[in-house]
This record gives sequence, structure tokens and C-alpha cells, in this order.
Amino acid sequence: MKVRYISRLYKFCDIFPFFSSESLLISRRHELYKLSERNIIRMIRTENLTKVYRLGAVEVQALRDVNLEIKDGEFIAIIGPSGSGKSTLLNLIGCLDKPTRGAVFIDGINTGELSENGLAEIRREKIGFIFQQFNLIHTLNALENVALPMFFAGVRHEIRMRRAEELLAKVGLGDRIYHKPSELSGGEQQRIAIARALSNDPEIIIGDEPTGNIDTAAGKVIMDILEGLNHEGKTIIVVTHDAEIAARADRIKRMRDGKVLD
Ligand code: ADP
Ligand code: MG
Repeated sequence: MKVRYISRLYKFCDIFPFFSSESLLISRRHELYKLSERNIIRMIRTENLTKVYRLGAVEVQALRDVNLEIKDGEFIAIIGPSGSGKSTLLNLIGCLDKPTRGAVFIDGINTGELSENGLAEIRREKIGFIFQQFNLIHTLNALENVALPMFFAGVRHEIRMRRAEELLAKVGLGDRIYHKPSELSGGEQQRIAIARALSNDPEIIIGDEPTGNIDTAAGKVIMDILEGLNHEGKTIIVVTHDAEIAARADRIKRMRDGKVLD
């Protein structure tokens, strides 16, 4: 009874974090802390990661026993033909989806052991996502888009607006903060998406074909920014079709038929 009440409060706090009391925040952090004590290694590791999608009677084996280690501060590119499981792998590493079998460890935490709230906390605090389609909110301007995840993390209005402005300046859009996505080029929209991914200062940036929808020159700017973030110590995982883009990573992993090749 008590547990249900608390978990319902947690759900509520994910949506309206500014209502969460200090003690609730502390106990939420404690969940990750407790689980990470066992194995304090800061990196990403997958163990026999397997994903089967079921569409009615049809089964698609999207990932098959993937064992991959990504060290803290590494810049890794994942390449492979369409349908080879790249997005599935990123979604599982980013805790956006759950595996059919196997596990994802982040900083020594087995994410399969986390509650929905623990997973939401990892997504919010440790991981920033960038997508091929930018996924910006079209009714919000650049500043509001970047500030939004901070709103969900319970950051005060003035602080989140100031930080959003700083992050937009960092990606070279200091003079575009009041522009809506439709008033910006694809490359500029992707830079907003990077600033948004950085808003809660995550350790890990995951990009699913972040340069797939923009021209070569704009793609180079995006990669320059990601490279700069890597030099600041962020772990970067990028899926790409482009060999030139992949060549800028520390390490390239190839995927085929749901497997990561050696
Ligand atoms: P990639 O990103 O390398 O193109 P995906 O991870 O998107 O590959 O897809 C891997 C396989 O899983 C493909 O055969 C794809 O059709 C299938 N797949 C991906 N997402 C789903 C889903 N939500 N439901 C059913 N099948 C899916
Ligand atoms: Mg994909």
C-alpha cells in the first residue's frame, strides 16, 4: 500500500518535478546509488543483448546476443546497413526500450533492475539523445526547446533560461534563440537538438544518424560539435551511414543482421 503510494508520487514527480520534496529526490537518487555500489565502473556494457519484435504472428530478431563495451569518454561510431539493428541497439542503451533478453549496464548499474522511475532518472540525468529528424517541438522557440528537459528536471525558470541561452551560444546559435524550428535550417535545428541533449549535463550523448537529414557542410559542423563535447569528456555514440563521419570516431563498430561484428 505504502509502496504503491510512493511509486505513484514518483510518477507524478516525473511530470511535475517542481512538486517533489527534497526527501523524495534523495530517496530517488538512492536507488541508483545503491545499485551502482556493487560495481563502480563508469561505462556502458551490454551482455547478450537480444531484442525480438513481435508483430502479430511475425517475429523480427532485431538484435542477437550483442556484447559491447563502451568506455567512459570514448567516441564510438556504429555503422551497418539499414535494418541491421542500429537504432534498436541505441534505444536499448539509452533506456528508451527494454530488451527481450540480456542486459544493459550503465556505470555498473544493471538497468534491467531499475523501476520505471529509476529508468526515467537515468534517461534524464545521464543520457542526451539526438535523432535524425531532430524531434524539436515546433510551437516552441529554440530557447524553450532547450529549456524543456530542465523544466522536467525541476530546474528553476531563471536558471533554466540562462543555461538554455548559454547552451545555444555554445552550439553557435546565440543569435537565433527566439527562432522557431521552422525558421531555421536543418543543420541549425540539429544544433538546437544538441543543446537540448546537453541541458541536464549528461555523461553520454547518443546520436541516431544525427547528420542523416542535413547537407555535408552542416553535418561537418555537427560532428565538430560532437568532437568538442568528446574532448570535454562526454561519451559519444553515433550511428551513421557516412564513412567519412564514422572515420572521426575513436572506434568503429559494424553491425549486420542484429549482430555487432568483431
Ligand atoms: P537500423 O537502425 O539498423 O536500420 P532497426 O534497429 O531500426 O535497424 O531495425 C532492426 C530490425 O527490426 C528491422 O528488421 C526492423 O524492421 C525491425 N524493427 C525495428 N523496430 C521495430 C518495431 N518497433 N516493431 C517491429 N519491428 C521493428
Ligand atoms: Mg535506424
